[in-house]
Amino acid sequence: MIDVIAFDADDTLWHNEPLYAEAQQVLAQVLSPYMDPEEVDRALYATEAQNLPYYGYGIKSFALSMVETACQVTGGKIQGEQILEIIAAAKRMLSHPVRLLGRAEETLCELAKSHRLMVITKGDLLDQSAKLARSGVAHHFTYTEVVSDKTEQTYRDLMNKHQISAERFVMVGNSLKSDILPVAALGGQAVWIPYHLTWQHETVTPHQIGGLCYYELDDISQLPGLIKQLDGSQATPNAPDGS
Ligand SMILES: [Mg+2]
Repeated sequence: MIDVIAFDADDTLWHNEPLYAEAQQVLAQVLSPYMDPEEVDRALYATEAQNLPYYGYGIKSFALSMVETACQVTGGKIQGEQILEIIAAAKRMLSHPVRLLGRAEETLCELAKSHRLMVITKGDLLDQSAKLARSGVAHHFTYTEVVSDKTEQTYRDLMNKHQISAERFVMVGNSLKSDILPVAALGGQAVWIPYHLTWQHETVTPHQIGGLCYYELDDISQLPGLIKQLDGSQATPNAPDGS
């Protein structure tokens, strides 16, 4: 039996990565006199990776990394107006309407009738909470958790906090690194629904997968069927990559 079904939010319930891609296009345009777009992407990713321990995840962190990258790439020659252009792109991300993935709302509606639902999202508390409020699906969730990172310890703490045993906990998400592998390592049920765009930091090389078992679905609308099987303990997770 399953007690709680937890969902990642960005790129699991609603589209998120395309907003980052659009803002990166603005940055690439601003920096086009200095550098090719691909090189700008690489420089930005390097800055973001360095800044994660300082700022964590989210759009405000991303904005600071874009500005820092612009200063570095131009050797400090970037103009104030151009920095304002970059900041405007970040602000557009923060106020953008939330676009739910197809069938997400119907699936939540169906599952909320039989299970307690939780959303576990990482990033900026204000932005993630505001997106959930704008999404129109917040009322389906019994619990909302905005966390600074998604590690095994994060999930262990959340299970303890809500008194859920790992084997009766399902985590659904698009990121192997953040949503799937830490939960599988704790003995929880993990359901991977890949999104067509994935941030470099969220990709996982095969050696990190290490024989952990999880389920993979093409679409969130397949989830109620899988949950029924899990409630009856009939499903068997696939071992990924033959490992
Ligand atoms: Mg996600």
